Amino acid sequence: MTVNLLEFDSEGLASFCEGLGEKRFRATQLFRWIHQRGATGFDEMSDLAKSLRDKLSGVAEIKALPVISEQVASDGTIKWLFDVGGGDAVETVYIPEVDRGTLCISSQAGCAVGCRFCSTGHQGFSRNLSTAEIVAQLWYAEHELRRRAAPVGGAADGTRVISNVVMMGMGEPLQNYGALVPALRVMLDDHAYGLSRRRVTVSTSGVVPMIDRLRDDCPVALAVSLHAPNDALRSDLVPLNRKYPIDELLQACTRYLEKAPRDFITFEYCMLDGVNDTAEHARELIALVQPAGREGVSCKLNLIPFNPFPESGLKRSAPDRVQAFAHRLQEAGIVTTVRKTRGDDIAAACGQLAGEVQDRTRVETRRVRAPIRSQPAAPALQGPRV
Ligand code: SF4
Repeated sequence: MTVNLLEFDSEGLASFCEGLGEKRFRATQLFRWIHQRGATGFDEMSDLAKSLRDKLSGVAEIKALPVISEQVASDGTIKWLFDVGGGDAVETVYIPEVDRGTLCISSQAGCAVGCRFCSTGHQGFSRNLSTAEIVAQLWYAEHELRRRAAPVGGAADGTRVISNVVMMGMGEPLQNYGALVPALRVMLDDHAYGLSRRRVTVSTSGVVPMIDRLRDDCPVALAVSLHAPNDALRSDLVPLNRKYPIDELLQACTRYLEKAPRDFITFEYCMLDGVNDTAEHARELIALVQPAGREGVSCKLNLIPFNPFPESGLKRSAPDRVQAFAHRLQEAGIVTTVRKTRGDDIAAACGQLAGEVQDRTRVETRRVRAPIRSQPAAPALQGPRV
């Protein structure tokens, strides 16, 4: 069986080369060919000894994920659906802006957390992606977009297209920690994509022990899906909160900031009509991040207009309500932005990624369709699988 070289960070590739009886430095050349030049075969790696190329062809490959479909939105956002085998597919979204190109990457086929406002969560969980499957999304997008930017008949000039990566696609990245960290290292490696730690963001629903591990192993920018200012409401919207309540989560955020590349945590807050968007919720949120008598968490609030899907039973907050909520936070001195919705005509906006995933956790049969309340509610969902 051949090994997919997209599975390795530079250390892993050096060990692999050593295992073939080669010098470790050969891995750097190989790494550059794969990630900086987008090579798909060993024959084109002209500065590698023929003997090594022959050896590699027998035992290794550079295997992309098959593309099932590509959709381009009117605003230039591109969504790819990749086949990850076994009847599962995951989605990756490229968001072009004037000063940056952001790729939103999936970490799992489906998701076990089951957030009520998230289309992926409604599908249930199928499996973790491997490091190769996570990296393959970036590898494909970067080199495909470079090829498209090249002059007709000419070669791509190597100018980087993707400047930012957000682990905000399908899945909870910190529930696939073992595959995530080597993938992050590939993104950051100067011999691969060379992205700065500030431009790689892991978004989590709050897996507290893994936030601590990420801080020590590979601190990148952190976004936390908060979505509610108290435990009762958050446990209803983000079931993981029952295991790691808000106070524990905020303490983990404070610890993370000791090593984070940015001096703030981004809190994501999906605006749900009548559920978490009132003046009282804003007051609670302010008190949460700026507690009286002690230091709060250095943070930015990112308000996300909800992208409705039929099964959620939830509605998007009206724009004036979102603005009023943002205004209250800003008046309290909290840096607050309202996320621009991108790619919603191709269902590529936040929380809309559905892919095609076999629901092996039977989430729909586990789900109890209780109405969402902002007061303590009976558990509406099974706890997450962490
Ligand atoms: S919001 Fe994230 S953690 Fe929650 S169900 Fe969706 S993919 Fe999973």
